[in-house]
Amino acid sequence: MTSRDDQASEGRQASASLSGKPAPGDDATPGTPGTGENVCPECRGTGKVGGNPCPHCSGSGKIVEGIGGG
Ligand SMILES: [Zn+2]
Repeated sequence: MTSRDDQASEGRQASASLSGKPAPGDDATPGTPGTGENVCPECRGTGKVGGNPCPHCSGSGKIVEGIGGG
């Protein structure tokens, strides 16, 4: 079979998520075709975990995920 091409995500483009920093939970930058915002599963959209800003979504309560999936 063909050898797999594991393309590591190269330099992320700056996403204007909250403070200009991409959230770790973001699959892509907002507005990317084939992606959409979703409620952060870590903080359930509250943006906080244990009283601290959610590290998954950077406290935005939302993440950008690829949709459709194949
Ligand atoms: Zn979160």
